[in-house]
Amino acid sequence: MEPQRSPLLEVKGNVELKRPLFKASSRLPLPGSRLKRGPDQMEDALEPEKKRTRGLGAATKIATSRNRASTLTTLPHTQGPTASQKVPRKIGPPCSTAIATGVKNQKPVPAVPAQKSGTAPPMVGGKKPSKRPAWDLKGQLGDLNVELKRYRERTQTLDQENQQLQDQLREAQQQAKALGTECRTLEGELARVGAQAEQGQQELENLRAHVLDLEERLGTQESLVQELQKEQLELQEERRGLATQLEEQEKRLQVSEAALSSSQAEAASLQQEVEAQAALLSERGERLHGLEMERRRLHNQLQELKGNIRVFCRVRPVLPGESTPPPGFLLFPPGPGGPSDPPTHLSLSRSDERRGTLSGAPAPTTRHDFSFDRVFPPGSGQDEVFEEIAMLVQSALDGYPVCIFAYGQTGSGKTFTMEGGPGGDPQLEGLIPRALRHLFSIAQEMGGQGWTYSFVASYVEIYNETVRDLLATGTRKGQGGECEIRRAGPGSEELTVTNARYVPVSCEKEVEALLHLARQNRAVARTAQNERSSRSHSVFQLQISGEHAARGLQCGAPLSLVDLAGSERLDPGLALGPGERERLRETQAINSSLSTLGLVIMALSNKESHVPYRNSKLTYLLQNSLGGSAKMLMFVNISPLEENISESLNSLRFASKVNQCIIGTAQANRK
Ligand code: ADP
Ligand code: MG
Repeated sequence: MEPQRSPLLEVKGNVELKRPLFKASSRLPLPGSRLKRGPDQMEDALEPEKKRTRGLGAATKIATSRNRASTLTTLPHTQGPTASQKVPRKIGPPCSTAIATGVKNQKPVPAVPAQKSGTAPPMVGGKKPSKRPAWDLKGQLGDLNVELKRYRERTQTLDQENQQLQDQLREAQQQAKALGTECRTLEGELARVGAQAEQGQQELENLRAHVLDLEERLGTQESLVQELQKEQLELQEERRGLATQLEEQEKRLQVSEAALSSSQAEAASLQQEVEAQAALLSERGERLHGLEMERRRLHNQLQELKGNIRVFCRVRPVLPGESTPPPGFLLFPPGPGGPSDPPTHLSLSRSDERRGTLSGAPAPTTRHDFSFDRVFPPGSGQDEVFEEIAMLVQSALDGYPVCIFAYGQTGSGKTFTMEGGPGGDPQLEGLIPRALRHLFSIAQEMGGQGWTYSFVASYVEIYNETVRDLLATGTRKGQGGECEIRRAGPGSEELTVTNARYVPVSCEKEVEALLHLARQNRAVARTAQNERSSRSHSVFQLQISGEHAARGLQCGAPLSLVDLAGSERLDPGLALGPGERERLRETQAINSSLSTLGLVIMALSNKESHVPYRNSKLTYLLQNSLGGSAKMLMFVNISPLEENISESLNSLRFASKVNQCIIGTAQANRK
């Protein structure tokens, strides 16, 4: 590295290069030895000096000048006090003569050659004066005057030179000052440059740090790039796989498109076919509707032929623990068609004990024959019984009111027939659940022909001429007596039970829940009043509404399933205690309502103008399910026991009377 140069030196160097060397110093007085020469000789002697200094740098010149100046200051010692007084001491400073710029154009004052005072006589005309004799004082004085004059001239010359040197000094000082200013400026600049350099250094360091950081980042980026490259490779691999898959899919698509176009063609032909089928279907629908109407008509006709009032007799089996009746007590003689025909006859044989005892002969038997629309011996199943009434139930969907009764003494199997046996055994299900299931399924089938049906169920109990809701829930559960039978509206034929629940049903489960609720309600009543259920009529009613919206047809009819109160009579020979009196009242109410039922049926059969519906709550409630357009079926339930023969005969006689009734041609409730 290049050593740092002082700015001052640099400036001096510049100055030297720009300005010619100072020659004035050569005009300074020379040392005594040289003064012995003449001016020309001095000039000559100076020449080599001048030539030497011209080629040197400023520093050399300064040294030279200083030497000369110091030489000059020695003059007073050599030339005596006069000379020393005349030479100004100011011209001594080292730098004053160093820079001779600004005086280069001045004419140098010719230096007066110095002469050793006292030692050498003054030279006149270049010739050394000859030594005067001691006596020649005048001559000596003249010589001294000449010498004095010469000194004076010299002093004058030196003064002038001094003046010039002072001027030069001033000028040099100014220059030095200017240079000092410049120097300071440059120093300032140097400081600034230094600061800049420092800043640059700082920046450099920052940049280095930045570079390091960037290098680090580069490293990270490179590893990232590597990862990405790896990933890219994987992706490329995947892409190739996908491209293969795509190709496969495209091929499959092409196949599918071909299949689709053929399918579309097929669909178009199928559409045409569908349209043709639809036309055919609507035509068939028309025909079907016609056929349906015809079916209804024939169905009804069939029911009419069977009779609008039918009576079925059902004999329950002997229950475990009951005494088996004697053989021949109950007989089921075959019908005209032989044993293959379903039985319609029933024979009850009663032995006349009294007559036998009196005569001593074996007791004669009295045979009671009855014939009904159908007789069900003890072994008949629930399904068999239902099969016989299924067609009748269906009439309700066609708009004919249907009413089914179970009549008989307590314990003869009325409830078993209507609701079913205990334990929820599906085989033992009674008519109510079976009838409803049948109706729901037929209604669904009819849906295909445009019919929609809705069903609303109610279940009430009539005890001692009071009506109680068996579907009551919550706090009303087990309570009764608040229900009244009313017309649904002014002028309306429809009847409704106030405060009773009418529950829409659409499936078996809902019906099951209702029957369960009714059983619970009866159980509550049973504890409150001894066996009240057998002393009351239970009326399950289903209001059926059907509509064929497309044809604007509507039909509606009630289906009533009635479990009547026990038909047994009180033994007139029994002593009447307070309990019996109450029971007598119950029995009278029951007998009254049952006989009213018989009377109503008779009146309808005889086409009497007055039908005594109002004589009992039961007939009043059922008036829309009886009569002209209605179809009625009565089950007469019989106990197989010999001990019940009396009640059995009573029931069979009542039923026979009903069976003889023919109610006028039924009319469907169509709108
Ligand atoms: P009711 O309702 O007429 O008083 P129930 O229906 O309660 O008579 O019948 C009395 C008893 O006889 C019940 O235990 C019942 O299960 C039983 N029972 C009735 N009919 C039949 C039948 N056809 N098969 C089997 N058990 C029967
Ligand atoms: Mg019962």
